[in-house]
Amino acid sequence: MKLCLYFKLIKNLLLDILFPTKCLGCGTKNEILCNNCMVQIRTAERETDTNILAVFDYRDPLIRKAIWELKYHHKRYLGEKLGQLLYEFFIEDISDMKIDVSGRSIYVIPTPISNKKTKMRGYNQALAIAKGFCNWAEIGVFELKDKVVIKKIDNIPQAKISSRKRRLENVRGVFEIKNSEIIKGRTIIIIDDVTTTGGTIAEIMRILKKAGAKKVIGFAVAH
Ligand SMILES: [Zn+2]
Repeated sequence: MKLCLYFKLIKNLLLDILFPTKCLGCGTKNEILCNNCMVQIRTAERETDTNILAVFDYRDPLIRKAIWELKYHHKRYLGEKLGQLLYEFFIEDISDMKIDVSGRSIYVIPTPISNKKTKMRGYNQALAIAKGFCNWAEIGVFELKDKVVIKKIDNIPQAKISSRKRRLENVRGVFEIKNSEIIKGRTIIIIDDVTTTGGTIAEIMRILKKAGAKKVIGFAVAH
């Protein structure tokens, strides 16, 4: 076993002993989000017009807390759980896509954050969710494509801008595609934690389509 992997295992084991997992909602032990709390989270209304779908209503305090903990309190494992929820919630949409791609894998692209933010946070929360999401499908359905879309400009967070028009301007040109040749003809799912006006996902969709993607849809944990 590689030494670093060994240390990682020991570290996780110690963390489990020192800080046993508790449900974020009710404190039940050994669960990150128990079923009882989960079924009570308000679901988001579906946005069918833009191909961006979200599971939960971001105004619900528990989902806000879960995303906050994932982003700012190093609770990376929450990404696994949220990714699982995303997969289960959109299972029908995914089945339709599977028929559509006829045996080819669907690319999963997490919304990128800048290098500066990745260093600050230690990881990209959307990538943590995307990994959890991909883990729930049978092998070969998804192909996680991190680093295909990169964020080259660290713009103002979308949530800090109130006007829709300015939000759209704020994301214009901040992303870039690496290896655009692998995008051609592919069906792609973009994964994000929160979508506000959908501006960020819409911009990534725009550049992926421009690079020749066949179909792009966005899944977000909350809206
Ligand atoms: Zn609970």
